[in-house]
Amino acid sequence: MKTIFEKSNNSGICLTDEKEDLSFLDKTVLRSEKCGLPQVGELEVLRHYKELSDRNFCIEKGFYPLGSCTMKYNPKVNELLASLEGYANLHPLSSDEDSQGALELMYMLQESLKKITGMDAVSLQPAAGAHGELTGMMIIKKYFEVKGDCRKKVIIPDSAHGTNPASAHMCGFDIVPVKSNEKGQVDISALKDVLDSDVAAIMMTNPNTLGIFEENVLEISKLMHDNGSLLYYDGANFNAIMGYTNPKLMGFDVVHLNLHKTFATPHGGGGPGAGPVGVVDALREFLPAPVIDFDGQKYFRNYNIKHSVGQVRSFYGNFGVLVRAYAYILMMGNNLRNATEDAVLNANYIKEKLKKYYDLPYDEPCMHEFVLSGERQKHDFGVTTLNIAKRLMDFNIHPPTVYFPLIVHEAIMVEPTESETKIKLDEFINAMIKIAKEAELEPEKILSAPHKTPVVRVDETNAARHPDLKFVDTH
Ligand SMILES: *Cc1c(COP(=O)(O)O)cnc(C)c1O
Repeated sequence: MKTIFEKSNNSGICLTDEKEDLSFLDKTVLRSEKCGLPQVGELEVLRHYKELSDRNFCIEKGFYPLGSCTMKYNPKVNELLASLEGYANLHPLSSDEDSQGALELMYMLQESLKKITGMDAVSLQPAAGAHGELTGMMIIKKYFEVKGDCRKKVIIPDSAHGTNPASAHMCGFDIVPVKSNEKGQVDISALKDVLDSDVAAIMMTNPNTLGIFEENVLEISKLMHDNGSLLYYDGANFNAIMGYTNPKLMGFDVVHLNLHKTFATPHGGGGPGAGPVGVVDALREFLPAPVIDFDGQKYFRNYNIKHSVGQVRSFYGNFGVLVRAYAYILMMGNNLRNATEDAVLNANYIKEKLKKYYDLPYDEPCMHEFVLSGERQKHDFGVTTLNIAKRLMDFNIHPPTVYFPLIVHEAIMVEPTESETKIKLDEFINAMIKIAKEAELEPEKILSAPHKTPVVRVDETNAARHPDLKFVDTH
């Protein structure tokens, strides 16, 4: 594919242009050199960008079982609502009086998230899950400071998402890892071994990143609370429990949600997200200011929060994402648990169909995702998980998350989400079985994959740090 510069038949006009008749222009407005902008007609521009977007993979093009990321369908009506003029064009410095509609939406969303999480108060400010984690850790830190009990440590299971230790560390805590047992759950005796009076909190996600529900969560919360410690809930896996249970019932004190995952906003490529934080009553006075309040007549921004950790995001967060999330919640009515049921059913269906062909290190009923291992294919046929992921692209399937969580060798982490049909799930299952057979019979087909994508294999580190955005067809 040509670049738009290569498609241009000229790159602007300038003083030295001999072919053009420029006599009608004042010499002083002419450049001495061509400005280097592509000269293409509107139709050619449209075609160019359409062709570019066709090369991209997205949920609208195919199955996207990227574990942990919840790449589900994002209803298009959300886009329409987020772009309503009153929302999209509202100036962020408008007064409360002039922003009643937007404030009401934020207030109603806070109320919905309180119900969904069981928490007593919510801030919508954080701009992503990891940002919510950092905010939650700041709240926990300040809570102990105000108590005059400056605890230094945060316990994190070895199955955790990398952002958990990163957020706690950025906040100045020392990270204490705790290992998982043979069932893929927090090892209680290992937890007891590291629990002391310097532990501020444990950060957990439930189900954890193996897609396994932590059965001992109540025992863990009792242990932590008896120790004067708090529990932080990473809510990235919320579509596994919505409507069935909530972090409050499990004993958590601080929660973040990833609205862009669970509540259907297009994400990926660093696009805008939202990571609201919810807290129990005892931590309400530590939330980032302002929170949105209602005095019975007017909605307003409440800055009067005694021990607030301060504002963590300019203005009030990524407002467009908040609109989409609220629209999604309303559209689902009282049936958010239907999404949970389908997410869990879909994951278990695929897991059961594939466990004959790939290793399944934790052979347990899973929640919304599960983790296979490509160890057998690597050991027996020299085909690694990376190769399997690349081959899947030939089937118009986005590869699952690979090499995460770290405690599974050659990990293949599959999250089908609730929005896929059985036909799609079967297509994925069949592709994975075909690849398992190829690994045995014709491994070179996998080792040289993908065969149908615009770009074959890139140097992953360099591609991320120094992207070369020219489109070189490698076929
Ligand atoms: C996605 C994810 C995060 C981080 O959320 P971002 O919104 O990407 O910052 C944290 N924990 C888990 C388990 C996740 O899946």
